[in-house]
Amino acid sequence: MEKTLLYEGKAKRIYSVAGKNDEVIQEFKDDATAFNGLKKDTIHNKGIRNTEITTILMNYLGENGIPTHFIEKISDNEMIVKKVDIIKVEVVCRNVAAGSLIKKFGFKEGTALQNPIVEYYLKSDTLGDPLFTVDHITALGLASAKDMEYIKSLTLIINELLVTFFRKRNIRVVDFKLEFGRDKDNNIILADEISPDTCRFWDVETNEKLDKDRFRFDLGKVEEAYEEILNRIKN
Ligand code: UDP
Repeated sequence: MEKTLLYEGKAKRIYSVAGKNDEVIQEFKDDATAFNGLKKDTIHNKGIRNTEITTILMNYLGENGIPTHFIEKISDNEMIVKKVDIIKVEVVCRNVAAGSLIKKFGFKEGTALQNPIVEYYLKSDTLGDPLFTVDHITALGLASAKDMEYIKSLTLIINELLVTFFRKRNIRVVDFKLEFGRDKDNNIILADEISPDTCRFWDVETNEKLDKDRFRFDLGKVEEAYEEILNRIKN
């Protein structure tokens, strides 16, 4: 397959495929960054594991009626996905207080939230991904109010599906980040990845962190956390 690099991000590369205008290859790297790129390293086998984890979760969501960009996994660290225009809004959904929720609003880490919180962040490395509102999003022309209502409703359904899926595997879905894009017919679909890079997963019994926080805060056993998530969701 003849491929040309279109874009390289912090954790993934996107390639165009000769003769296929509506599809791209999404390749997962072992590179890891945190704190807006200030901390950098590689996590052995992360690319392979995040490819498999994202494949399992995108398939599960697709089977449950969520429109996604996922088409098929083609190698250990690559998948074919529908080409989309990414909407420059990072959608974060939270069930349990952690991370920036504690720093910004004074929640106590580990508190189960009364209701899921959906937040929007501008996808911009130069501006440091600021938290913003639907009014900012519409004023910037990133998406319409109706688009954002749809994105929020999809996010809450995805949250329910992920919580149910992971509960059976003894994992709490603390929070996660989603990205959406527009396909060639202008439909809004789920894109990007769902992995321990983009979610917080805690063991139900021990509250052990099984996600990128192990890398962010030098907690050790980083590679093992990604492996553990994959092993628990494989069957
Ligand atoms: N997240 C992400 N990419 C980002 C920022 C956040 O995938 O650029 C994920 C993060 O892994 C966590 C959730 O979104 O699962 C909420 O992150 P938070 O706002 O608490 O920020 P953080 O503490 O990760 O900086």
